[in-house]
Amino acid sequence: MYDHPNEMKRNEIIHLHEDRSMSMLVNSLSDIEISTLLRKYGVQPKKKRGQSFLKDQNIAQEIVRAAEITTDDTVLEIGGGLGVLTKWLAEEAGHVYVIEIEACLVDALTDLFRETKNVTIIKGDALTIGLPQVTKVVSNLPYSISSEITFRLLRDVNFDWAILMYQKEFANRLGARPGSEDYSRLTINFQYLAEAEPIMEIPSRMFYPQPVVDSIVVRIRRRPHDPQARDIEIFQWMINGIYSYPKKSLRNALRIWFKTLGVERNLAEEVIEQSEAGLTGDEHLRGISIESLVVLADTIFEFVRDGKLPKARGS
Ligand code: SAM
Repeated sequence: MYDHPNEMKRNEIIHLHEDRSMSMLVNSLSDIEISTLLRKYGVQPKKKRGQSFLKDQNIAQEIVRAAEITTDDTVLEIGGGLGVLTKWLAEEAGHVYVIEIEACLVDALTDLFRETKNVTIIKGDALTIGLPQVTKVVSNLPYSISSEITFRLLRDVNFDWAILMYQKEFANRLGARPGSEDYSRLTINFQYLAEAEPIMEIPSRMFYPQPVVDSIVVRIRRRPHDPQARDIEIFQWMINGIYSYPKKSLRNALRIWFKTLGVERNLAEEVIEQSEAGLTGDEHLRGISIESLVVLADTIFEFVRDGKLPKARGS
């Protein structure tokens, strides 16, 4: 199994939902211990694969605790790395599936968990490989695939909830409220499907090699579908169309989008007037709620149905 750290360090985790100022003293692996493990398995950390490894055993334990795992749970971990999360997941779950893309790290994980019967290591790309059905997903995600893997998990895996670590800026966009700078196309497409509750903030110094930005761990739950667009593809088509111009007013964003579709710009006014979203067109896109956008998308749906707009292409 995993070598236990012999060097103790004092670090802090910030628990967001309990007390933002609260800190906790914890133990951690030293940079030397991690780099020794990496050398042992011939791993040269690659930035493009998000290979920054969590040093802190107590943070790993906290993340696993947040998932409230029991032996009835089957858990998926994406990007096992050196197994710092896997170790604690294996202690709680009935079974743990770990997907890791990097051959050397697959060798390391296979070695470290050889004796652990409830862990299955899978070599592959989590974006393309078939995903196992699990009750929970717990991962310190490679940041370069954050968006794609999040939407894939929501589409393809029927989990109860997911505890996922993201770059701070990305996590802020997932949870943004209308009116904030972070409220974006990503926010709307994500919040249509799910909600993200921040759990803890983790400073970049807790990783080796140290990334530039801090991280946030969030709990993701599927959103009960209310309100629901008449056609999800048309909703996403419209969001992707108008939120390409996030600083514009609704009227101007609709006009530009219609122009790219080869449609009369003035149709924007007609859409706004016919929609029962209560919008005037002067609103800034960053201030419009998802509920209003759903009503607006239903008007777009009617325009497509009536042949006034071209049929929606895949978004
Ligand atoms: N879980 C470990 C930890 O917390 O220290 C490692 C986390 S590290 C941020 C991300 C891990 O994901 C790396 O081990 C990297 O090799 C792996 N990875 C990157 N892209 C991947 C992909 N497309 N599919 C599966 N694993 C991937």
